[in-house]
Amino acid sequence: MKMDWLNQELADIKNKGLYRRLNTIESGQTPRIIKDGRELILLSSNNYLGLTNHPKVKKAAIDAIAEYGTGAGGSRLTSGNTYLHERLEEKIARFKGTEAAIVFSTGYMANIGTIASMMNKGDLILSDELNHASIIDGCRLSHAEVKVYPHRDASCIEKTLQSSRHQKKLIVTDGIFGMDGDIAPLPEIVEIAEKHDAMVMVDDAHATGVLGKHYSGTADHFNLRVDINMGTLSKALGSTGGYVAGSNELIEYLRNRARSFIFSTALPPPAVAAAGAAIDIIETENPAKRLWDNVAFYRKGLENMGFSINSNAQIIPLIIGDSRRTLDAAAELERLGVYSLGIRPPTVPEGKGRIRTSLMATHSRKDIDDALFAIGVIREKFGL
Ligand SMILES: *Cc1c(COP(=O)(O)O)cnc(C)c1O
Repeated sequence: MKMDWLNQELADIKNKGLYRRLNTIESGQTPRIIKDGRELILLSSNNYLGLTNHPKVKKAAIDAIAEYGTGAGGSRLTSGNTYLHERLEEKIARFKGTEAAIVFSTGYMANIGTIASMMNKGDLILSDELNHASIIDGCRLSHAEVKVYPHRDASCIEKTLQSSRHQKKLIVTDGIFGMDGDIAPLPEIVEIAEKHDAMVMVDDAHATGVLGKHYSGTADHFNLRVDINMGTLSKALGSTGGYVAGSNELIEYLRNRARSFIFSTALPPPAVAAAGAAIDIIETENPAKRLWDNVAFYRKGLENMGFSINSNAQIIPLIIGDSRRTLDAAAELERLGVYSLGIRPPTVPEGKGRIRTSLMATHSRKDIDDALFAIGVIREKFGL
């Protein structure tokens, strides 16, 4: 009886076309996966560089288990800290070109812990309307005033800062936006921030290992510096975990104040070792070049079909609109042998349902050609 409301809520979710179910994949994150016994082209993974399956990454994880075991056994500030963790943080700092870095159990925890510990009542956070949910939740936990600005609208940031009398000010943005594949206008943001004494935080979940001369992210791409460089180890780095890179003081502060760092078990040794090996590979084997070649080839195929594309990165959404039609189109694409997820609110704004396609460095030309053929079929059928 007292739980009846659950059925009502679930019925309501289904009526709106927003019901979510788990899809089960019977293989690793490879360009072709097995699902329900069928082989499908995987066109929606965040394993952008294919590193979850790289022999050196796998070996590093296996070796770490052999030496350190499976779990960390405690938080970083108790018994869970090892040389592996410290070496990874040094490596991330070097990779990002900062003084120091700190790793969290997930990117989600890095965002909520960082934003909530740095910003308080009386402070102001300026947040892009398409920022990731973990940024939104960090803002909510912070008790600061939050102004959500229109997507990539630097002039709105400036206007808001001009009339602000808050103590501390933070501008936070995704680097590459996860559902759109466009890039934050960081040069404008940094310039405005300088003028108004605001801190800048960039979430490089999708840009780490992918974007920039050294493939270290959005600041690298624009050749400038930001105060707080956040990212994940879980996407292009093929592991799990989140990081923040910045000044020594920033990292020391987060170690002392970020509750999601303090009160959560340290990353498991194999995850730490895998992420470290992934950075080595990015620095020595240049896997992102294959990714960008694939992106160019795929984009051209889509543009030849008549799609207009706003993305500048490895994430390219096919905008559909209505939530149900989005699901129908994604299901049709799967019948045609391509696995790419239909994305609906609240992950994207109302009426902006889409199939979020993403490329991997390990896709072959044939994988992409076959995927383009299937997309051509749904384009006709759904009038995309
Ligand atoms: C995936 C993602 C996160 C969360 O990272 P996890 O390591 O998966 O918890 C944070 N921000 C953005 C922009 C993301 O895409």
